[in-house]
Formats: sequence, structure tokens, C-alpha cells
Amino acid sequence: MRGLSLVKQSNRITFSSTSMKPHLNAALQWLLKGNLHPISQQRFQHTIVGKIPKTGLTEDARSAIQFDDYKTVFEFKETPEILRALFVLKLCSLDGIVNNGEQLMKLSKRLLGNRLYTALQKKTVYGQFIGGNSLEELMVKVKVLRMGGIGPLLAVPMEDDVGEQYDIEQMERQFDQNMIKTMDCLDIVSNLNDKIPMMQVKLTALIPGDICTKLSACCPNPSEENKAAIEDIATFFRTDKMPYIPNLTSTEHMQLEAGLKRLKMVFQKGKEKNIWLMVDAEYTYMNPALNLITLAMMLNYNHEKPLVAYTYQNYLKGTEELLKRDIKYIKSHGVAFSAKLVRGAYMDKERMLARKHEYPCPINNCYEDTSDTYHKSLEILFDETGGNRTKFKTIVASHNESTVLHAADRMKEFDIDKQDGSVVFGQVDGMGDQVSYALGRAGYLVYKSVPYGSIEDTLPYLLRRLLENRSVLNGVRRERELLRSALKHRLKQKCFPD
Ligand SMILES: Cc1cc2nc3c(=O)[nH]c(=O)nc-3n(C[C@H](O)[C@H](O)[C@H](O)COP(=O)(O)OP(=O)(O)OC[C@H]3O[C@@H](n4cnc5c(N)ncnc54)[C@H](O)[C@@H]3O)c2cc1C
Repeated sequence: MRGLSLVKQSNRITFSSTSMKPHLNAALQWLLKGNLHPISQQRFQHTIVGKIPKTGLTEDARSAIQFDDYKTVFEFKETPEILRALFVLKLCSLDGIVNNGEQLMKLSKRLLGNRLYTALQKKTVYGQFIGGNSLEELMVKVKVLRMGGIGPLLAVPMEDDVGEQYDIEQMERQFDQNMIKTMDCLDIVSNLNDKIPMMQVKLTALIPGDICTKLSACCPNPSEENKAAIEDIATFFRTDKMPYIPNLTSTEHMQLEAGLKRLKMVFQKGKEKNIWLMVDAEYTYMNPALNLITLAMMLNYNHEKPLVAYTYQNYLKGTEELLKRDIKYIKSHGVAFSAKLVRGAYMDKERMLARKHEYPCPINNCYEDTSDTYHKSLEILFDETGGNRTKFKTIVASHNESTVLHAADRMKEFDIDKQDGSVVFGQVDGMGDQVSYALGRAGYLVYKSVPYGSIEDTLPYLLRRLLENRSVLNGVRRERELLRSALKHRLKQKCFPD
């Protein structure tokens, strides 16, 4: 930049340039500022990474995973990407922006017009969290990830909540479109030629959320009390013989059948292409149906190896028991089991619904309980994986450095090889880069969940990332600190080269 020099004044870095406007300095200070708003500081207090079981990871193993080496962690990122990350993660920490995210996005689209809005999104939130809407755009991200030893976990961020659509024909057309997009994504994943091809799938992109909610009400506990329903759905995948579900109307039956047919096409193709398909868990009022259908798919598609995974949200009370029951059930059928372990992304809405409808809140009472549950679930899975590498496959999906270290620690103790693929790590693209790149550098198999789709299709996903950034407090605060250090380091290098 012409006429630019960097002046260091008592720990403040400012630009001194004849051509530069004063607000550039203000913007730089804003981005580099480490101080937190008092409200955010209060919120950080619950996100304690401390209370995690000590298992005696050797110093060697711990020091191999270097989260705070900002020079190497961000070495593959261009400076504009670092600036964008700082800007977007800072935006995500502002309550006013997060609480009004949807309205703000819609308003800026109205004010700017489609073209300008699209350009702005691509430079900011969409660019930060989404892989793009074409293979070329996606490959730009994938190339940078691969340089850091990270693989892509493609996600189709389409979903349906309860009561979202009314016209059944229009809704069915939309779900058919979603299926086509999902099948296209499977081709893309297959063409990426990764060591472990994988993809995240939301069942509510292919079956209406209302139907999943009704199915959940009549089968609340699939692997315990509704085993026959799992087997009926598994039979449908083999024979197209539709089971009778008592509380569905005939139209709803038809919708469920159409949804299951879409799923069958997707999962059949996934199996043919050897793609590990991870089914997302969503809201508690529809999760039993998602769990039921996924277990049925495990029975069908996990014969030779674990190709279908269900997601266990450890912020929910009783997750450990659910995981144990599902493993027992799947093992009793002699097929492989696979799990994605997460803390959970819908905490605010779950709590709000429980308050509103006056039922016991399904979310753990505090963050520490969620961490305890997560680590107990890890233990259950590692115990099984240690004894049978080929029949169990887990993705530790977390941005939490202590959880990741703890998992690495237990892998060592259970003698699970970093590269054999039975345990891998995952973070969301645009978040937790210090975790992903450090794991990649230390030789672990690590994947970034990269959503693929247009701005319209990914809007709800983008809004959830805004909310999630607020609850993944510790990690994001640290990531911003490291980004600031990396930026300062680069500016210094540019202005005062060694
Ligand atoms: C690859 C991948 C796939 C994912 N798939 C899913 C999915 O299918 N379904 C889904 O729901 N999420 C999914 N997520 C999102 C995931 O749930 C969030 O990224 C995760 O909750 C953040 O937790 P953390 O371990 O990264 O960070 P941390 O900062 O350690 O934990 C933050 C989380 O802790 C929990 N928490 C915070 N405060 C409290 C409290 N007071 N009481 C109880 N719990 C609390 C919340 O779950 C919060 O999100 C996925 C994430 C990744 C990386």
C-alpha cells in the first residue's frame, strides 16, 4: 500500500499514511483490540475448559499439538483471509448483530440489491463459513485446507423445521430439488479423491420436519422400545414395503414414503461411492425420528464397514445412555457402528421451548455437565473402537482444545493410530482454525465441515453459525487473539523485515 508505514506506540499499532482516512486506524484498533465487552466476559465464565479428566497425556504428545503457534497455524492463510476472519468473528460476538442476524441480512439485501449483497456476503459471512456454490469456488477452499493437512467434510446445509411449509406439492418439489443437490454433492465428494470421502446430511432436507416430529412422538426411544419400527424402516430400504405408522394421516404416510425413497437413493449412492455419511442431529422434538431412520440405515449400509453415522449431542441429558443403547442394538445385528460426537448447536431454542411449554429442559444444567457427558461418550466409543477398529468409526467434532487434547490422549492410551481412520477430528470451516491446523500438522486425520450451496440455501445455516459463535466462546476468543497476533506479526515483517 502506497505511503503506508507502521508506527508502534505503547502496544498500539497504527497506520501513518497521508492518503489514509482516520477511520482505517479506528478499524484496525477495533480488529486488534483484545478487550472484551463486560457482557461477553460474563458469558465466558461458563465456558471453562478446565474441568476435564486428567489422563496423563505425555508431554511429547501434548507438545506435538501446538494450538498457539500463530505463525504456523495461519501460515496457509492470505492476509485478507485473516482480516476477514477477524472481522466476521468480531461481528459474531456482537449481541445486536447476532440477535437480529436474519433481519439485518434481509435488510442489506433490500438496500444493496442482489448483486451488491451477494458480493458483500462473499467477502464476509458467506465467504468465511461456506465453501461456495460451484466446484471452482469449493476447490479454492479445499486447496488451502489440504496444504494444512486438513480434508473437506462437505455439508448440504438445507433443512426443514416444524410448520415451515404449507403447500404439500410445492414442498415435495423442494425436497426433490434438495435430493438432486445432495446427489450432486456426493459426486463432488467422490471426485475430491480424499483418503476418507465423507459428507454431512440433514434428513430434514429430504423429509418434512413436521413428519419427523410426528414420527418422533410415536417412537420416542427407538433402540429401546421401538426396535420393530427400526426394522420396518430397514425393510423398506430393501423392499420398498412401506410400514404402517399409527398416528400419521394417509397424506403424511405418502410424504414419509416419498422422503424415505429420497433417502434410499442418497444412501445407496453413498454406499456405491464408499462415502461416510453422517446424519446430523437437530431439535429434540424430531431427533428420535432421525435416530430411528439412521439406525435403520446402519442395519442396511454398515455391513462391511461403518458408512452411516448418527450424531450424539452431548448437551442433552441422557446422551451417554442413548449412545450405549444404540451401540448395543447395532452390535446385536452384527453390523458396524459410527458416531459423530458434538456438544450441540440448538441450546438457546431448546431452552426457550422448554420454558415456553413448561416441560423439563432437555439441556444439561451447566457447561461442565455437557463436557462431562462428552468425555464419557468418548470413553464409551474408544472402549469399543480399541477392541474392534474396523467396526467402529468416530468423528470428534469439537473446537474445544481441551476436548481435542483429551481425545488425542485417549487415542494414545487405547493404541488407536492417528491415521487408521477409526477416530478422526472435525471442526466447522471458518471456526477453530487453530485447532484444525494444529491437528493436521501433528499428523491426525482432521476435517473441516464445509457447507456447499447458494446464499439463499445456506442462510439458516449462516444464522446458526452466528449464534453458535456466541456459545463457542472460549475457542473464538482465543482464535481472535491468535489471528490478531498473526496479523501483527505479518505487519511487522512487512514494515521491519529481518
Ligand atoms: C463437524 C461438525 C458437525 C456438527 N454437527 C452437528 C449436528 O449434527 N448437530 C448439532 O447440534 N451440532 C452439530 N455441530 C455443532 C456443534 O454442536 C457445535 O460446534 C458445538 O456445540 C460447539 O462445541 P465445542 O465443543 O466446539 O465448543 P465449546 O466452546 O467447548 O462448547 C460450547 C458448547 O457447549 C454447550 N454449552 C455451552 N454452554 C452450556 C451450558 N450453560 N449448559 C450446557 N451446555 C452448554 C453448547 O452445546 C455449546 O455449543 C457440529 C460441529 C462440527 C464441527
